[in-house]
Amino acid sequence: MRIAPSPTGYFHVGTGRTALFNWLFARQQGGTFVLRIEDTDLARNRPEHIDGILRALRWLGLDWDEGPHFQSQRGPLYREAVGKLLAGGAAYACDCTPEAVAGRARRRGGPPGYDGYCRDRGLEPAAGRMIRFRTPGSGQTRFDDVVRGTVTVDNASIEDFGLRKSNGDPLFILANVVDDADMAISHVIRGEDHVPNTPKYLLLWDALGYGDAPVFAHLPLLLNDARKKLSKRRDKVAVEDYRDEGYLPEAMRNYLGLLGWSPSGDREIVGIEEMVAEFRLEDVKRAGAIFDERKLQAVNAEYLRAMPTADLVERAQAWLQARWEPIAPLVQERARTLAEVYAMSDFLFLPSPAIDPAEWERGVRRNPAFAAILQAAAARFQTIEWEPHAIEEAVVGAGEEAGEPKKSKAQAPVRLAVTGRSVGPPLWESLATLGRDRTLARLAEAARRFEQDK
Ligand code: GLU
Repeated sequence: MRIAPSPTGYFHVGTGRTALFNWLFARQQGGTFVLRIEDTDLARNRPEHIDGILRALRWLGLDWDEGPHFQSQRGPLYREAVGKLLAGGAAYACDCTPEAVAGRARRRGGPPGYDGYCRDRGLEPAAGRMIRFRTPGSGQTRFDDVVRGTVTVDNASIEDFGLRKSNGDPLFILANVVDDADMAISHVIRGEDHVPNTPKYLLLWDALGYGDAPVFAHLPLLLNDARKKLSKRRDKVAVEDYRDEGYLPEAMRNYLGLLGWSPSGDREIVGIEEMVAEFRLEDVKRAGAIFDERKLQAVNAEYLRAMPTADLVERAQAWLQARWEPIAPLVQERARTLAEVYAMSDFLFLPSPAIDPAEWERGVRRNPAFAAILQAAAARFQTIEWEPHAIEEAVVGAGEEAGEPKKSKAQAPVRLAVTGRSVGPPLWESLATLGRDRTLARLAEAARRFEQDK
């Protein structure tokens, strides 16, 4: 059993669910739960996302028995596999550019990204040439998925997929297969989005002579309440956002366990030990599972009520403290009483800021560029590095763009929108602590309110 996240973004609730199911299955079967970081895409990896994966797994209480292994450190293994495939004639060098492949696919009406139509033209492997797998032109590849039943695919419909990029870096499928064999993974439990990769996986597995392939179980997609696939842009998908909003890890874990599986009876509150005992991989449902934040809230509320009040006090304190500490020294320089400490900090804890109506009146009327500044700041905030200096530059730039060159006047609307007040700790550090997503949500909310007030 393994969880094999790519560190290209925040730790997604879907990855949390996949990790949980692997962990449950490993604990129940006495298996080994391996953590593997699939960081082959060097351009898209970020070290903070690796930390985020480890933090989120620890927060959820999903302890791993082995790893983390990093694919970026396992290059020799992948080179060896490619050498073997080339020597056996199962792979070949190709110098088609991505543009040429895309152009051919367009002309022939292939799906986007389809990189078939590359054929072995007898090129020698060399720098600047990628390596492709030679997919058999006939026959079928079949596997029995624990969740989806038998899946059969015509080999002729599978393109000669890439194994290694022209710069020598391994591609996802190669590293994935080589590592599952090397790490003796018995069960591949992963998201349904990987079903199309599985026939390629199996062809490659056989070509490498690895013997019996792992058992596959593809978990149903997570959907939002509009029954659309959960998306980073539309939906709140980062596990750590839920932590920051004050969900309890045991409630989150409980809720993730209900996404595609259910315990007997109509129960929704299932402790982790019960889950380990009752979980059955073959009972995972195939239909998409709806991630419903209200249901998560209800589960969380049950956990809050069930704990002794002393525990609640302790846990709430720990939560408040973790959120507050980064700006504590800044508040300390400004507050005269503890009540003011609270008033200067509440924006970090409230789901949305308590905007003082009098301040809103004054702030909006005094600043004709209010809406333009918010809009320009939001646009810049999307892409900058999220740290105080860059945030300051973005706000000053937004002011200039909106015809407000004075820094204090440019920052006032942002402060009001995000903290609800016109005074408080330094804005740049405040926003850095609050986080990009929550800042953007508040700017959008204030812009809406401004429109309504007009
Ligand atoms: N690295 C892949 C992902 O993040 C997971 C691949 C797998 O589980 O086989 O989607």
